[in-house]
Amino acid sequence: MSAVFTVINPATALPIREIPRASVDDTDAAISRAVVAQRSWAALPPVARADALRSFARVVEAHVEELAQLEVLNSGHPIGSARWEASHVAQVLNFYAGAPERLSGQQIPVAGGLDVTFHEPYGVVGIIVPWNFPMTIASWGFAPALAAGNAVVLKPAELTPLTALRLGELALHAGLPEGLFEVVTGSGSVVGQRFVSHPDVRKVVFTGSTSVGTDVAAGCARELKPVTLELGGKSANIVFADADLEKAAASAPGAVFDNAGQDCCARSRILVERSAYDRFLELLEPAVQSWRVGDPADEGTEMGPLISASHRSSVEGFLDGANVAFRGSAPSGDGFWFAPTVVLADRGDRLAREEVFGPVVAVLPFDDEADAIQLANDTIYGLAGSIWTENLGRAVRVSRGVKSGVLSVNSHSSVRYWTPFGGMKASGLGRELGPDAAEHFTETKNVFFATDAS
Ligand code: NAP
Ligand code: MG
Repeated sequence: MSAVFTVINPATALPIREIPRASVDDTDAAISRAVVAQRSWAALPPVARADALRSFARVVEAHVEELAQLEVLNSGHPIGSARWEASHVAQVLNFYAGAPERLSGQQIPVAGGLDVTFHEPYGVVGIIVPWNFPMTIASWGFAPALAAGNAVVLKPAELTPLTALRLGELALHAGLPEGLFEVVTGSGSVVGQRFVSHPDVRKVVFTGSTSVGTDVAAGCARELKPVTLELGGKSANIVFADADLEKAAASAPGAVFDNAGQDCCARSRILVERSAYDRFLELLEPAVQSWRVGDPADEGTEMGPLISASHRSSVEGFLDGANVAFRGSAPSGDGFWFAPTVVLADRGDRLAREEVFGPVVAVLPFDDEADAIQLANDTIYGLAGSIWTENLGRAVRVSRGVKSGVLSVNSHSSVRYWTPFGGMKASGLGRELGPDAAEHFTETKNVFFATDAS
């Protein structure tokens, strides 16, 4: 393996920069620095950790435009989305800056003494991030982990390391101690695996594919190391005939083609009640055709390119023998462009069950409420989903029936940093974000103090 990796702009296919690949020794050195930094960090008064994280948040906020431009360049995200992502990192830091002073334990009634619990940090937490949302996903791990008194070693995906590296610099600029937040660039099989095997990394957070996540979990099991997994998805957008069909159809492209479909929450199956199926497709077609695909630096762009040439071939492979209903447009030229595509699928088809991770959506009809739930659950995944209906009771029943971690009714929202996020089944293990995330980066210690005199 070469000692450097060339980072490519996916909108032009041109090289941007060469990034060093850390060896096992480099990774161990970063972990050692983190071990040292963590001891002093955890010993600080809670308010000092809170202040440091607020300061980090403010520095990120002051660099939103720079971070966003880096993400446009490295990931091909439309500039509007990239600005949202950079601001989101600042907000996540700001939110978890409230945690150090709120990690309260319990006082439990016992005879002959006082029993209290403490939320102790693990020590060093290893965070492994994919290329689809490089900075937001990193922040979901590092902000609560740091807040809880841990040090962090962060491995960005090799394809998209630029914003993570910049966040590492900004942390120092904000006054976080050296070694506390180490960004280690390199391959998953070397750096990521070392996070799994190194005895001083006491918890691993992995976001990526279900196959690699399963291996990471197996490796962590051998070390008895807790692991949080955020994996793939095949989320259903369920449209009942009683729904506001105009609104459901107008919002459906955004729910699957955002970030060119490279979104674990992409609603990549649209399940439509049979009596509304033809009307829904009629409404969907103009919405897909007006979805603006192009230069990610353009303010009006809604979708950029796919991340790489090899990923584009994998997405293309899903269209072999598919029944394409209609497609949107995409620029020609260099860059890994792919036009948004709507396919009519049958139950059991590969496109109806497997994650494409590209701008391809499968539309399937269903018969009734029970059938909708059964079809929505007919995949190994269970991350997100949407339910469109004007019937309140049905909205409640279907949202309880669909085995997914994050659902929305008459909307497609998945991520609000102050609410929990994560998947069921093959979509993951554990939850990120929300009010309890900092606590997930701690172990409970129970201490009994005897009070009996003599
Ligand atoms: P991936 O191949 O699983 O890689 C994810 C990360 O793991 C990368 O940083 C990768 O490093 C690293 N890695 C690869 N092999 C490893 C190993 N043996 N040990 C430790 N780390 C290893 O996934 P991807 O192709 O980047 O991302 C796409 C997938 O992620 C999709 O399936 C998508 O659904 C899922 N995803 C899920 C969520 C969620 O929140 N649920 C969010 C985003 C993405 P290198 O690539 O640098 O070698
Ligand atoms: Mg991969």
